[in-house]
Amino acid sequence: MRSHKVIEVRNLTSSTYIIKMEKNEFSFKTGQYITLGFSSSIDRREYSIYSSENSNFLEVLIKEVDNGLVSKKLRRCKVGDYLDVDGPFGHFSLEESEIKKKKFLFIATGTGISPIHSFVETHPGMDYQVLHGVRLQEEAYEKESYGNGKYILCTSGEKTGDFHGRVTEYLIKNPIPSDTICYLCGNCHMIYEAYDILEKQGISLGPVHTEVYF
Ligand SMILES: Cc1cc2nc3c(=O)[nH]c(=O)nc-3n(C[C@H](O)[C@H](O)[C@H](O)COP(=O)(O)OP(=O)(O)OC[C@H]3O[C@@H](n4cnc5c(N)ncnc54)[C@H](O)[C@@H]3O)c2cc1C
Repeated sequence: MRSHKVIEVRNLTSSTYIIKMEKNEFSFKTGQYITLGFSSSIDRREYSIYSSENSNFLEVLIKEVDNGLVSKKLRRCKVGDYLDVDGPFGHFSLEESEIKKKKFLFIATGTGISPIHSFVETHPGMDYQVLHGVRLQEEAYEKESYGNGKYILCTSGEKTGDFHGRVTEYLIKNPIPSDTICYLCGNCHMIYEAYDILEKQGISLGPVHTEVYF
């Protein structure tokens, strides 16, 4: 367990924020997650790392959950506070040998975009498309981080995105080439449903990588 100093808290919406911390000697593989909490409390939760493997800071993207314990507490952290970080954990990572050769489809719901952001910031030259499912346009967190035409926003709660509906509906209407490597991150309902759709479309299951948040 290490203590990391908070250097910025960036509010993206009324419920979503980014905590930027000093990186110190911490190293990780893009796509991995940490556990985070206040030193004064035993409560910890998992958060994917949002920043690049190569940055000299560490960032996480957090959405406050209704009645949630840690996501609400962390919102109150201030520049200069210290947070306990453990990790890195997880195997939601890119295959080094595929990064320059393959075409990737990154499918995320809500803050599930966090490890995808880290992938893209770490390897900006990759051939990728991001499919991001949210309710409202305002949840298109820092979409300017993705290359021109590489980010498709699916909004289910209003007709303001590139596609009106869920990412799973988009996938049904827009089948992908069978040699695409897919990464899915976010809530389990989307992941199970998208997995079935991709399987039916002939994407072999080997190249499908998943990270379930809740
Ligand atoms: C590997 C991994 C990576 C994760 N990465 C991120 C991340 O990058 N950003 C992020 O915001 N969260 C992430 N999460 C979710 C995070 O760990 C917490 O579960 C979330 O912040 C809620 O914690 P809490 O203490 O506020 O709520 P709790 O007090 O633990 O839970 C309150 C209620 O909210 C439900 N709940 C939990 N998470 C969500 C959610 N995301 N949306 C709606 N309801 C939920 C719980 O099932 C419970 O019923 C990740 C989870 C895992 C397993």
